Amino acid sequence: MNRVITGGYVATVDEQGTEHADGYVAVVDGRIAAVGSGAVPEEFAGLERVDASGCLVTPGLVNTHHHLYQWATRGYAQQEDLFGWLVTLYPVWAGIDAEIVSATAKAGLGMLALSGCTTAADHHYVFPRDGGDVFGALIDAGRHIGIRLHAVRGSMDRGESEGGLPPDSIVESLDDALEQTERAINEYHDPAPEAKIQVAVGPCSPFSASLDLMRGAAAVARRHGVRLHTHLAETADEEEQCLREFGLTPVDYARNLEWLGEDVWLAHGVHLKEPEIALMAETGTGIAHCPSSNARVGAGMAPISALVDAGAPVGLGVDGVASNESGGLAEELRQALLTARQRGGPKALTARQALRIGTMGGARCLGRDEHIGSIEQGKLADLAVWRLDTLKHAGIVDPVAALVFGRVPPLELLLVGGEPVVERDHLLTADEPSLTRELARASARLADS
Ligand SMILES: [Zn+2]
Repeated sequence: MNRVITGGYVATVDEQGTEHADGYVAVVDGRIAAVGSGAVPEEFAGLERVDASGCLVTPGLVNTHHHLYQWATRGYAQQEDLFGWLVTLYPVWAGIDAEIVSATAKAGLGMLALSGCTTAADHHYVFPRDGGDVFGALIDAGRHIGIRLHAVRGSMDRGESEGGLPPDSIVESLDDALEQTERAINEYHDPAPEAKIQVAVGPCSPFSASLDLMRGAAAVARRHGVRLHTHLAETADEEEQCLREFGLTPVDYARNLEWLGEDVWLAHGVHLKEPEIALMAETGTGIAHCPSSNARVGAGMAPISALVDAGAPVGLGVDGVASNESGGLAEELRQALLTARQRGGPKALTARQALRIGTMGGARCLGRDEHIGSIEQGKLADLAVWRLDTLKHAGIVDPVAALVFGRVPPLELLLVGGEPVVERDHLLTADEPSLTRELARASARLADS
């Protein structure tokens, strides 16, 4: 529906960081037709008006790393590091099936929408043999909730018997993993600029995917022109294992496999060293920064300020909620800012830089920056309207600081391609009590299995 949002503080996150204290955004046919200050231009004056006085208007947030199925396994392994946490959870995840993925993905995408997210990547790499069509269930959930979904067809082929971390029962054979990845691309990937569903390729990690799978997956992705994603340099343990097994750091391992480049984004990058930070920028390799998850498993603090200063694409991620029981993306703006400052002092990251990585940075990681990530004429109308005139935020002198330093504000409106998905903190595309019941049932089924 066409409309014009008026009277709000508009943070466009364009190249110059333009902001309009009394701004308007006109939305026509799913795209941004105009953005500016003061009176609405004549040609848009007749559109339906959305009064955004007392609100901050930002681009919709972009989530670059998630595992939606983990919504059914929150609260486990609370004091474990990454490897201990994984070893505790793999046997639980072995029980997932299409019904559980449907319930968790709807719940997780709904919660992302309620936290201002309009585009989300989900890295799904657990395919139990009798689990049914879990990837299809993920795609259906994306269509149902209505935010843009980058479904990463993950894979693991290196079970315990091959020196990997996961139990053999939840890994695929190399051939199956590659074949099913190609099938997912053929069936679901939409290359159109306004795509709601895109597919990427994502062997899980160096400790669960073989060299052949890493190489084969890259070949499949490049043959189809889709993006590549994996976990890398998350913990010190991973680095030790890579050095022991391959005589290489995780980044050198990835470079040898041609897993650096503009079509690649990597989850975490916590343990990048200085030359590796420069390499990310030089190669255009993106980093999905997941500060809450990194903190929960005590993985360390990623060098985000240095990556941003070097010009590498950096986006935000909630990561799976088994290592981040919240699952809200707006919260990660604040966590990213605080984490950067714990590491590098009070000038390490500004509120505006945090908002930029949560929007444009994420769009760059996903290869969508031409079409989403900022409020500019011609881009898709993916917009978040945050209410800042309640007890939570009234009087904070800077609206962007209110969003990033303060509590997560009430979400007045969330538009995806101009279509409302959230209004006044209510999800319009699904019934929240039903999502809650289905999520509780899925969690209980896994806890009992
Ligand atoms: Zn992850």
